[in-house]
Amino acid sequence: MKATLAPSSLTSLLPRHNKLSSLRSPPSLRPPSSALMTTKTASRGSVAVTAAATSSSALREGIAEFYNETSGLWEEIWGDHMHHGFYDPDSSVQLSDSGHREAQIRMIEESLRFAGVTEEEEKKIKRVVDVGCGIGGSSRYIASKFGAECIGITLSPVQAKRANDLAASQSLSDKVSFQVADALEQPFEDGKFDLVWSMESGEHMPDKAKFVKELVRVAAPGGRIIIVTWCHRNLSQGEEALQPWEQNLLDRICKTFYLPAWCSTSDYVELLQSLSLQDIKCADWSENVAPFWPAVIRTALTWKGLVSLLRSGMKSIKGALTMPLMIEGYKKGVIKFGIITCQKPL
Ligand code: SAH
Repeated sequence: MKATLAPSSLTSLLPRHNKLSSLRSPPSLRPPSSALMTTKTASRGSVAVTAAATSSSALREGIAEFYNETSGLWEEIWGDHMHHGFYDPDSSVQLSDSGHREAQIRMIEESLRFAGVTEEEEKKIKRVVDVGCGIGGSSRYIASKFGAECIGITLSPVQAKRANDLAASQSLSDKVSFQVADALEQPFEDGKFDLVWSMESGEHMPDKAKFVKELVRVAAPGGRIIIVTWCHRNLSQGEEALQPWEQNLLDRICKTFYLPAWCSTSDYVELLQSLSLQDIKCADWSENVAPFWPAVIRTALTWKGLVSLLRSGMKSIKGALTMPLMIEGYKKGVIKFGIITCQKPL
């Protein structure tokens, strides 16, 4: 695959300076919750810290409300996978709706393949946690494919209920279940899961170091961790922060999609290295997801899309108006669609 990166190329991705400390917003940078969703850039020592100006609890509430309000609309138009599709790079073919849904399934398959989950491995995977599960599309797919038991967590009660209802309607309730829980404080014992799956939820996490630590904690020895997430570009040598116009673009996206400060794929790699994880791999799949947002915008502009959007409410409308910024971010190379995978040592 053109956009993937072999582990041997990892060194070229690593940041030139230690930025781990910048992955958590220090308390002094967290303003009161009334300042929800404005962002600012501050400097800490020689390392620039970009902190989302929001308290964690206000952010959690905002995320829950956002998905409570928008998930029904998304499901109506796009089905049960709330993530990008994976396409061949440079594919110029205009896909049908079913083509896009297949691309979303392909995203799951490519992620498993990239992480080295072979058919042989699938059989060994008995327990899976789906961190930031949406309405449970990944869990139901993985449970059906592997026969594994999956537990999904989300901040949105509406999503958890819908995910459980869908599981029941597909006779999967004995295999999959969903609950409201925080990814940063997961209600699971250490070492419980053979596969820790986070599909497009990492971008919502205000403390990336804590997020990664929790993923590692709940992984079983030898278990795999797969993080597929929106990142900003890697900083180049000597660069301490994104350019102001880049930060400005991300800030505007943060406001509508309830996102805190972004990080890069190399920041994730560095975090995993600091925890002595094995077989750490990452790739930039930005080119593979390029057709996704234009397709979402096209569906929003259909009669059905517009009517549903207006019915769904302001958060959905604002979300739709922000989609062109995602396209701009990818085109200008500020936004990267990253996959980061690793294995917990035995
Ligand atoms: N993985 C799903 C949904 C992606 S949408 C899919 O691919 O279909 C992002 C999800 O992350 C939402 O379900 C949201 O509730 C969840 N999320 C965001 N922050 C979270 C947190 N701190 N704890 C648990 N879930 C979180």
